[in-house]
Amino acid sequence: MLNVVIFGAPGSGKGTQSELIIKEYGLDHISTGDVLRGEMKAETELGKIAKDYIEKGQLVPDELIVDMLANVLDSKKPAKGVIFDGFPRTIPQAKALKKMLNERGTDVSVMLNLQVEEEELIKRLLERGKVSGRSDDNLETIKSRLDVYHTQTAPLADYYVGEGKHVAIKGMGTIEEIFDRVKEAINNVK
Ligand code: AMP
Repeated sequence: MLNVVIFGAPGSGKGTQSELIIKEYGLDHISTGDVLRGEMKAETELGKIAKDYIEKGQLVPDELIVDMLANVLDSKKPAKGVIFDGFPRTIPQAKALKKMLNERGTDVSVMLNLQVEEEELIKRLLERGKVSGRSDDNLETIKSRLDVYHTQTAPLADYYVGEGKHVAIKGMGTIEEIFDRVKEAINNVK
């Protein structure tokens, strides 16, 4: 199986590159942000809890996210592999993912770390906010999401360096240029 973790700050292009990866490699896509937005829309208990965190730009607690992800994984038919988008975002989540995959006889194949300059991230997120309808794509929440990214999520890069799975990808340029770099990284692990 080919299990890809797509990693990077908010606005680094994880969703955009995920769509291209899915088409090219036939992987299943799990975006924890999308799952949470679905729960919010359906007004489930989890959705109601998540809403408060999401609107403040904070992370939803690990236990909730890990349980949610296990349920999503169990509901999927066996595929060629999965692309994890927006998960893991903390070290405990990364350890939980490893455990969940190992229990299913597989592991993370590669972690792609999309690297984009801060100014560009803010520009992209504000642009997206004009059309996304996402309650967290406004300047105040964007700033706290970036802050959370730097303090809680960025340290995960070192965890995957330690696992021998980390590949840095320059996330600036056109979508096609970035996808070429992504393909090269994936083809190297296949
Ligand atoms: P995203 O769509 O990935 O930008 O996620 C939007 C928001 O959902 C984040 O700012 C968090 O509040 C929440 N979220 C998504 N994925 C996770 C995760 N793996 N851990 C904690 N919170 C998450």
